[in-house]
Amino acid sequence: MTFSARDVIMAKRDRARLSDEQIDWVVAAYTRGDVADEQMSALAMAILLNGMDAAEIARWTQAMIDSGEVLEFGDIGRPLVDKHSTGGVGDKITLPLAPLVAACGAAVPQLSGRGLGHTGGTLDKLESIRGWRASLSLEEITAQLAEVGAVICATTPTLAPADRKLYALRDVTGTVEAIPLIASSIMSKKIAEGTSGLVLDVKVGSGAFMKTAETARELAETMVALGGAHGLATTALLTDMTVPLGRAIGNALEVEESVEVLRGGGPADVVELTVALAREMLALAKIDIDPAAVLASGEAYAVWERMIAAQGGDPSAPLPVATHVEELVADRSGHASFDALSVGVAAWRLGAGRARKEDAVQAGAGVRLLVDHGAPVEAGQPLLELHTDTPDAVAGARALLTETVSDAPPAQRSLLLDTIR
Ligand code: URA
Repeated sequence: MTFSARDVIMAKRDRARLSDEQIDWVVAAYTRGDVADEQMSALAMAILLNGMDAAEIARWTQAMIDSGEVLEFGDIGRPLVDKHSTGGVGDKITLPLAPLVAACGAAVPQLSGRGLGHTGGTLDKLESIRGWRASLSLEEITAQLAEVGAVICATTPTLAPADRKLYALRDVTGTVEAIPLIASSIMSKKIAEGTSGLVLDVKVGSGAFMKTAETARELAETMVALGGAHGLATTALLTDMTVPLGRAIGNALEVEESVEVLRGGGPADVVELTVALAREMLALAKIDIDPAAVLASGEAYAVWERMIAAQGGDPSAPLPVATHVEELVADRSGHASFDALSVGVAAWRLGAGRARKEDAVQAGAGVRLLVDHGAPVEAGQPLLELHTDTPDAVAGARALLTETVSDAPPAQRSLLLDTIR
């Protein structure tokens, strides 16, 4: 059946429900190029403003899955389980988590994307490792899952192509933050990926797409329901993203911190979240092993080395460092105060992220926190390091980091806010 894109846009503009047929048609026609970018932009904005009901979201998700292929790994001898984060600042958790869960006996097919905006991309981080290759064929992914247990690689071009096109469009039209569009984007890719269990890390706070616990919970519940409807066992953790995760923000800086975690060290919050997500993934995979003990034993680090080497990377090669490093010091005594969004955008301005999807990122650029959020600090004490290959970018980063000391200690916060099953 053929519709007019204009009629579909006007229906959603006027708060009507879209029919199953309208949804199937508009997603397929947009993927083929028969619905223009400007028409899909208008529809995405109408969806952002007027929403979709549960049945519309389910149908939209199915249409995105149907725009490409559903991957099948066959029997690889281990339960398949994956994780997805809605994106945050310093969120390098996939790097230690995938080898940790593989070391516990599951297989983790982590098909990831690149960063756009202030949230970093997993592939950009791993590409700072010498020789590491993001693009693998389905045969290579399957073989690595069976042999190593963990793969972090680029999504294949055939996996939900409607999402690839739509996500790039949403990014430049201010329509990323729509719950129906985020939920269908994430879940269409994960359902098409062919995993049997999924743990979602839904971030809440200034550095996240969802700024309040209410909207994050709504997003999490929508995704858990979508997973259930497709036979994909899904659990969501709501986690705090008001403060950067860990002390390193930027590609190579985050790889370095992930390796510290895999070697049994690293910042407490990164360890806490890695272990919490691993526990949920292992529960879905029905594996009764304590991931904290496996992390401490060094077995996860051994899987990391194999996982990186299997994709051509040299896990022992020195990581790239920025050519220029400057400190930012406390302008007065008080308590260190690091807002996730400000630090994320500062790292992005220093070169860790990209403004357009064709831009290159700097492997060594980013921000290193020298003290913990909330720690007492003296005037003149170094708080942050700014790393970049383009010193002209430093002024723009500093302009975002003028409020890094608070007079009062910050309110107590929990990293793990809730679990939705
Ligand atoms: N991550 C995705 O994959 N899609 C979105 O829409 C938002 C975050």
